[in-house]
Amino acid sequence: MVTAASGSLALPEGELPDWATVQSEPICIGVWQGRPLMAAALRLETVIQEPFVAETFNFASDTLDDVTLTLGGMAKQILHWEWHSCHCSRCGGTLEQIPASWGKSCAACRSEHFPHIHPCIIVLVRRGDEFLLVRKPEWALGRYSLIAGFLDFGESLEECVQREVREETGLEVANIRYVGSQSWPFPSQMMAGFVAEYASGELQVDGEELEDAQWFCRQLLPESLPGRRSIARWIIDKYALGDA
Ligand SMILES: [Zn+2]
Repeated sequence: MVTAASGSLALPEGELPDWATVQSEPICIGVWQGRPLMAAALRLETVIQEPFVAETFNFASDTLDDVTLTLGGMAKQILHWEWHSCHCSRCGGTLEQIPASWGKSCAACRSEHFPHIHPCIIVLVRRGDEFLLVRKPEWALGRYSLIAGFLDFGESLEECVQREVREETGLEVANIRYVGSQSWPFPSQMMAGFVAEYASGELQVDGEELEDAQWFCRQLLPESLPGRRSIARWIIDKYALGDA
């Protein structure tokens, strides 16, 4: 949650309000502007009271400044890790924090565990003035975005780009170029952004994972694009609609 006390939305300062019941004790996730930054997950049944406001810290939101959104996303990832790292995945023993680290060590078998951050690729495929956007059935009506997917065992990020484009659309790509990345805390991904050129093939979608894939151009855009602060939108704005 954030506070609207100062007129704009900001991270709350000071003690937790009396009505805020948390799932576990707040933890310190770092120091921000000389002060400790604490994170806690509110219980679902908590009724948030004014001047505090519920905030999901997702990238569709245009109401938060970049720093607040980033800190909120980082807190979400850390709380997710803490929530999912109570027990050893090897023997079921209790995990203990490794000092000065987010890692944990098993009290029973001594195996060590570190935060699970999942690498993903996201790619804009271009063909002359056209670019490829896809649509998943669960997305908001009219929304199109870029091809994306999780890295698999043994793959380079560039091989992942080739495989995801091939699997999702039947196309082959060339000239794969890394353009930037974004931490994606839903719950814990690292999105690596690429631009690639169409090489060969005819568009084919399976109708399950993807509902549709189409070539668009500046003059013909879908009804809706990804949120402004997602890497997907940044790549589209810069490499499809811009001059990069
Ligand atoms: Zn263990």
